[in-house]
Amino acid sequence: MATTHKTRMLIIGSGPAGLSAAIYGARAGMQPIVVQGLQPGGQLTITTDVENYPGFRDVIQGPWLMQEMQAQAEHVGTRMMWDTILDVTLDGSPFRATGDSGDIYEGDVLVIATGAQAKWLGVPGEQELSGKGVSACATCDGFFYRGKKVVVIGGGNTAVEEALYLTNHSNDVTLIHRRDSLRAEKILQERLFAHPSIKVLWNQAVEGFSASADGRALGTVDLVDTVTGAKSQVPTDGAFVAIGHAPATDLFKGKLELDESGYIVVQPGTPKTAIPGVFACGDVMDHTYRQAVTAAGTGCMAALDAERFLADLDFAAAKAEAVA
Ligand code: NDP
Repeated sequence: MATTHKTRMLIIGSGPAGLSAAIYGARAGMQPIVVQGLQPGGQLTITTDVENYPGFRDVIQGPWLMQEMQAQAEHVGTRMMWDTILDVTLDGSPFRATGDSGDIYEGDVLVIATGAQAKWLGVPGEQELSGKGVSACATCDGFFYRGKKVVVIGGGNTAVEEALYLTNHSNDVTLIHRRDSLRAEKILQERLFAHPSIKVLWNQAVEGFSASADGRALGTVDLVDTVTGAKSQVPTDGAFVAIGHAPATDLFKGKLELDESGYIVVQPGTPKTAIPGVFACGDVMDHTYRQAVTAAGTGCMAALDAERFLADLDFAAAKAEAVA
């Protein structure tokens, strides 16, 4: 039978943003419920080595970090729910969410931390070689390609920034783009073209990724020229797919303002949406930084703002009662 779960603080999403919001929310006495979603733990559970999350001298594993975050959230009083939200009602506090299980979740505040997913090319070899040379995050994995030959695929801001970032580790970086011009901002393009360690391959579509001779790592990126149809194979150690991200915001279409790329619009410098009591944190509202540590930071901000919102709500209710 369907159950209604009530809480002061309902959090949708269980990556670093959602769990950080939960840790702060629980410690502030809001007894949060986190509905975990289809990928409990978020994007970090599909990465391996993490070297840039502060506090750990040695390399840690993404799934382990998320298990620890969840354990910490539960330890301070968070209830974790294995469910996926299919619908939300945002007419006013309390906010309601309906799970795939049929259960209803009701929160006086709602924190949206549903994240984003890197887009993949969907070509042969990409999935098989993911983590063995194919990656979607240069900031996360670039370090592992020190002194090696790397390629970046894409022509937007992300691709150009990733190519520039990779020059910190490699002096052999190739940007591969399917057209003959980039959509990245001019200033980034200028920096890219001026960089001695970066070359650009124009009009090249990626047909697939092939493994090295021993089958254990990436060997080549397999290309087709979009003008001539000529095929080629570019030997490389690391390939970074940078063709954009897709925020998980289908649930909120028509209910919250989304930008042209589908990210939730928040008041600048805050996790506040246009609906009082509804907050968004992490990659679902941030297409620029997209790091575990920034997601955790905005999760903390959402919890602090949620606490203030609830204090105001309680104060108004107490005042109304006193008058009555
Ligand atoms: P974009 O959508 O801007 O660019 C995606 C790029 O990938 C395009 O060049 C596109 O090619 C290419 N692409 C898409 N699909 C494929 C495919 N199947 N095969 C080959 N290439 C493909 O995404 P970004 O992630 O770069 O940027 C997203 C948003 O975030 C933008 O608004 C951007 O400005 C912003 N951003 C801002 C930053 C900053 O301000 N510092 C940093 C990073 C992002 P084509 O050009 O042919 O369509």
